[in-house]
Amino acid sequence: MGDCASAVFAMLSRPDRAGKEERESFPPSPLPDIRCAAVKTATTTARALVGPAPAAAVPSQCYLCGGLDLSLRFPARGVATLDHAAYRCTSFGHRTHGPIWGCRGCGLLFQWPIPDRTTLLQAYCDVVDPVYLAEKENRYLTFRRVVRLLGAPAHRRLLDVGAYCGYFVDVAREVGFRAEGLELSRWALDHARRLGLTVHGETLEQRTRSGARYDVVTMWDVVEHFDDPRRELASAFALLRPGGKLYVSTIDTSSLVARLLGSRWPWLMDMHLVYFDRATLCALLEETGFRVLRRGTYTHTVSADYLLRKAAASFPRLAPIAAALHRVLPGRLAVPVNLGDNMLVPAERSR
Ligand SMILES: [Zn+2]
Repeated sequence: MGDCASAVFAMLSRPDRAGKEERESFPPSPLPDIRCAAVKTATTTARALVGPAPAAAVPSQCYLCGGLDLSLRFPARGVATLDHAAYRCTSFGHRTHGPIWGCRGCGLLFQWPIPDRTTLLQAYCDVVDPVYLAEKENRYLTFRRVVRLLGAPAHRRLLDVGAYCGYFVDVAREVGFRAEGLELSRWALDHARRLGLTVHGETLEQRTRSGARYDVVTMWDVVEHFDDPRRELASAFALLRPGGKLYVSTIDTSSLVARLLGSRWPWLMDMHLVYFDRATLCALLEETGFRVLRRGTYTHTVSADYLLRKAAASFPRLAPIAAALHRVLPGRLAVPVNLGDNMLVPAERSR
C-alpha cells in the first residue's frame, strides 16, 4: 500500500506543462512558496456567476490579519455555478475556483469574492453525494485511525462538525465517546440518522444556543469551507467546556506538495474559501482563545479506484497513466494517503 501511495505521489508531483495558464501562474523557482509567490498575470478570467453578485471584486483587507498588502495569487479558473455539486465532499472540481488572494503580511490565502452566507448555506443543505457512500469502508478506516489520537474516550461528550453521513460519529460512539454531529446536508443527515446517530441539522452558532457543552469538538476537513472561520471557531470555543479539546484538520499551503505543485495543487477549489498553513491556522486558533497543543498531518484511506479517479481529474494529462494503473490494481484496494499537505492541529480551551 505504501508503494502504491508513493507511486501516486510521484504521479501527482510530475510537472504538467500542458496549459499556458499553468506556465504563467506557476513560479519557476524549484520550491516556490504558494503563499507569497504572486502570479505574473493579474487578469482574472471572467466567470459566469449564478446567484447574488458579491459586493466587491477586490478584498479590502486580509481576512486574518487585516493587512492591506494583498496580491492575486491564483486567478479564477473554470465556471462558477454555485451548484451544490461543487460543495460535495467528493467534488471533482479540482482547480476550478474564484480568484484566490494572498496576504504578504501573514501568508493567508483566501478566495474573494465569495458567495454570500445564505447562498452557501443553501448549497450545503442541498448536497447529495452518492460517491461518498461507495467509500464508506475506507472512511471508517480513516476515522478508526484518527479517533485513536483523541485519547481515552472516558464517556466524554464529543461533537463532530460537518459530520456528513455520520461515519466519524459512529466510530467515536463505537469506542466509547458520547458522540453527536452537526450536518447541514439533508441527504447526509438522513443517512446519519438511519445509523441511529444523534446528528443535528444546525450551524455551530445555532448549536451554541442549545446550551449543550462538549469535551471534544472535531472538524475534519471543514474549516476551509467556512466563509468566516473566525466566527465558527469562536462558536466551537463556546461549545467546549474549559479543558475541552478541539481537533482541526485542513489542507496546508506551506506543505512541500502544495509548494511543488503551485497552481496545480488540486485542493484549489470553489468549495475551499480560506487556505491556511500551520502558522495562520495556529494564529487564528490562538486569537480565538485556544492553546495549540501539537501540529501533525492527517492520513486519509481511500480506494485505489477513488484515488486514481481523483488523480485523473486533478491532472488530466496523467489520465492515461491512471487508467493503466486502474487496470492492474484492484479497485477496492484500501490505500492510505498522506502527502503531508493535510495538517492536523489539536488545541485546547484552557480557560
Ligand atoms: Zn494577513
